[in-house]
Amino acid sequence: MASENTFVVEKTCPICMKETRVIKTRSRLVVEKRDEDLCVHYKGFSPYYYRIWICEHCGFAGDEPTFVNRMPNKHREKLWEFLKHKDLEIEFTETRTLPDAVASFLMALTYLDIINGPASKKASYNLNVAWLYRFGAYKDREQEYLAKAAELFDVSLSKERYPVGGLTDNAAVYLIGAIYYRMGDFEKCTQYLSRIISDQNVRTSEPKVFDKARDLWGDIRSNKKSAQKK
Ligand SMILES: [Zn+2]
Repeated sequence: MASENTFVVEKTCPICMKETRVIKTRSRLVVEKRDEDLCVHYKGFSPYYYRIWICEHCGFAGDEPTFVNRMPNKHREKLWEFLKHKDLEIEFTETRTLPDAVASFLMALTYLDIINGPASKKASYNLNVAWLYRFGAYKDREQEYLAKAAELFDVSLSKERYPVGGLTDNAAVYLIGAIYYRMGDFEKCTQYLSRIISDQNVRTSEPKVFDKARDLWGDIRSNKKSAQKK
C-alpha cells in the first residue's frame, strides 16, 4: 500500500545537518469525503500518516515546512542541545501504522514545546492526531485531541497574525466551531459560527467560509429540531 502512494527522498535535517530519508506522498489521491473540520478521507490511503518527517540520525521531527524553511539559529541551538547526546537513531520505515503516525506527531509536538513554537502549528498537529484516531475509530482519543486543537487554535487567534498555514482568521474561527461540532458541543460551535455569520464583510470577502459556517449552522438547527421531535 505504501509504495503505491509514497516515495522516499533525501533531505538535510535542519538540526544535525545530516542527510536523512523522509517519506513524501503522491498528490494524485481520490477524495472520498470531507468532514466539517476539514479532515479529508481519501480512497484506500491517508497522507496524514506521513505529514511528519523524522530524521533517522538525531530523531528530530516536524512537517515539511519545518525541514525545508530556514529555522532561526536560536531554535536550532536549543533543539540540538536537547538532541545531541540522545543517540536516538530512529529506524526508518516507509510504511507507518497508526501508532507510528501518532508517535511522529507527539515527537514533533515535543520539539515545538522546546522552542515555544506557534500555537497554530501545535493546534494543527493535535487536529491531525484526532483525525488519525478518527480513522482508527478510537472515539475517546479523537475527542481528547479535538479538544486540545480547539483550545490551541483559540489561543493562536489572539496571539498570531493571520493568515497562518493557509488559514485566514475567519477560516480558523469556522474551524474551531467545526471542531466543537465534531465533539457534539453545539453551544460552543454556534458561538464561533455566529462570529462568521453575523459579519457581512465575511460574506463578501470570504464567501466559501461564510457558506460553510451557514451550512453547519443549518445542520445544528435541524439536529435540534429532530431531537425535539423524539
Ligand atoms: Zn537530524
